[in-house]
Amino acid sequence: MTLTSEVRFLKGVGEARAKILEDKGIRTVEDLLYYVPRKYQDRRDPKAIAELTAGETATVVAQVAGAQLRQLRRGPTLFEVTLIDGLHRLACKWFNSNYLERVFRPGQLVAVFGRVEYDKYARGLAINQPDYEILMQEGEAPPEDLGHTLEVGRIVPIYETAAYGKLNSRFFRRRIWQALEEVPNIFDPLPVTVRDKLAMPNRGDALRHTHFPEDSEDLAALAAVRSPSQLRLIFEELFFLETGLELKRARARRAQGQSLPVNDAARSKIRQILPFALTAAQQRVIAEIEADMAAERPMNRLLQGDVGSGKTIVAVQAAIVALENGCQVAIMAPTEILAAQHLHYFHNLLGALGYQVAMLAGSQTAAQKDRVKHLIAKGLVHVVVGTHALLEQDVDFASLGLIVVDEQHRFGVVQRMQLMKKGRWPDVLVMTATPIPRTLSLTLFGDLEVSTIDELPPGRRPILTRHKRDENAPEVYDFVRGHVKAGRQAYIVYPVVEESEKQDVKSVISGHRRLSSDVFPEFRVGILHGRMKAEEKERTMADFQAGRIQILVATTVIEVGVDVSNASVMVIEHAERFGLAQLHQLRGRVGRGAQQSYCILVTYGQLTDEGKQRIAVMRETNDGFRISETDLRLRGPGEFFGTRQSGMPAFRIADLLRDAEIIELARKEARGFIESPPSREALVELVTYVKEHWSRRYGLVQVG
Ligand code: ADP
Ligand code: MG
Repeated sequence: MTLTSEVRFLKGVGEARAKILEDKGIRTVEDLLYYVPRKYQDRRDPKAIAELTAGETATVVAQVAGAQLRQLRRGPTLFEVTLIDGLHRLACKWFNSNYLERVFRPGQLVAVFGRVEYDKYARGLAINQPDYEILMQEGEAPPEDLGHTLEVGRIVPIYETAAYGKLNSRFFRRRIWQALEEVPNIFDPLPVTVRDKLAMPNRGDALRHTHFPEDSEDLAALAAVRSPSQLRLIFEELFFLETGLELKRARARRAQGQSLPVNDAARSKIRQILPFALTAAQQRVIAEIEADMAAERPMNRLLQGDVGSGKTIVAVQAAIVALENGCQVAIMAPTEILAAQHLHYFHNLLGALGYQVAMLAGSQTAAQKDRVKHLIAKGLVHVVVGTHALLEQDVDFASLGLIVVDEQHRFGVVQRMQLMKKGRWPDVLVMTATPIPRTLSLTLFGDLEVSTIDELPPGRRPILTRHKRDENAPEVYDFVRGHVKAGRQAYIVYPVVEESEKQDVKSVISGHRRLSSDVFPEFRVGILHGRMKAEEKERTMADFQAGRIQILVATTVIEVGVDVSNASVMVIEHAERFGLAQLHQLRGRVGRGAQQSYCILVTYGQLTDEGKQRIAVMRETNDGFRISETDLRLRGPGEFFGTRQSGMPAFRIADLLRDAEIIELARKEARGFIESPPSREALVELVTYVKEHWSRRYGLVQVG
């Protein structure tokens, strides 16, 4: 067997289990070996019951004498297992765990792990809620003798189970042990110079000791995922990722792009259309962008700035520079509503200069799309704003010079590259309002330079955020009424379009019905959600923009980009159901004018701890960076970035939050190695390995 052999050929796996493993992303022996323990248990010194004393934490190996499920007088059920070992007994107790009845049988040999206490009901020793493992069924022979030594008398790895426990920890432990036996020589792709420099174990040893630590291993380090073996595996994963990114950067640096300098024509046109004085931060990032565009190598820049910081006008200026150099500009937005907003914004400013701005979106008819595509190919449309539709194969540009991707967190690296192929190394400007903690942005956008707008346009007052419970709705409505009477506008957001039997959640449709006829009969109340036709949505947005609609009841379709500066109240119904990033984005729809704006978070029912923390941080700060960091901490990187779609690599061992300083190290070492490799062969070897193994996985298309 080799690392690339499929796991279904391992003894004890077979087709059915292979299918379950595949769903966990485990197809090959290598995948299995990288399925690392979730935690470890110290079973080096299992105790006999007779040796136990109250107060200690211990592993006990003993036989099940009996098990009993009881209904306690008030409330919970109690499941109790009695273990015996000679004349000595130990009680193990679990509350509300009826399923354990199917797990424990008299005669089994089990290991339990937990804190031993004196139990006054049992008048003897007991462990409450112990971790447990069935070592042997009654009469079962230990499988080839290894079962016993793998599961007791050592630091034992505990794995996340699969298919609701069908594949338990013991299954993984045995199969992994077996895989390590079958593949004794594990090739180590980490350059030996790097490994020696950092005094790291080789890959085979690292894997072996991560799964089956030596008895001398430091348990605290293992628990913190900081044993030398674990560190080596984390480092390896990040090192290859950073190598891939470094190769991409090197390639982009070598690429021959076009030089698009800011000429006099561009300067004067920008002056002509600029609707306001730019903030110092906007000026600074524009200078950075202009320098990139003027250079021969293609621009690859990430522009981050909180909601409302004024990124769009920066993109408009970059567009003018490209246009005045005879190039076309493509602007990609994640939703049609946002694309439509951009269409208006760009059309208003650039139309006046004689440029043709058009839209390309999925909801257009085939004939409409064909016409726009034709004009783009002929160079008759200068700026095209669109959604994913821009990526379609048959969208050809006459001379694409600049790509602007708005709200990058919704698109992956792959989509960006797809769009880039439609020109000859066009300049790329990526914009995001979801600020990303530095180490993460290095990883996620490692191939991009970063510009930050860290200042809001003048005269903005920080939005005040309040939290109300649903029973205080009348108070909230009165508040909205006051503002609308004073000439302002308001948004009221709901989490779902329609109500369903399954969930007790208020919807846009019923909310709109009630608000327009019962609560605010005196106002014009509009509705906006994703199931409406594109023209209806656009008409509603235009009506809201023009003030013909005073209160807009909507779903999160308005989450990004929507820009109506007269709107000063944002009510979010069922705020407990939204993630932090979403709440922050939604709140960013107000506070765009000079008047004081408010965001009211209305929650229903009991809040979870996490829900409480989300509301608290929203009330405390308007700072997108802080919110983003809290969000990341609460949800973890996987959830934070959404699916693989977002371009975020799915790590096997590394954790971007926990391992921030290892990312830095990996980056430094990868760069150092590529810049001055010990030998040409060593470099070729590494590049080949990264290309073969990592590009598919991490979406590093066309590395090197
Ligand atoms: P975002 O960065 O969230 O995309 P926008 O580009 O939509 O922000 O800008 C938010 C609002 O602020 C828009 O109405 C925009 O016209 C306005 N704005 C941007 N820059 C300035 C500025 N320097 N002075 C005044 N208003 C500005
Ligand atoms: Mg924007």
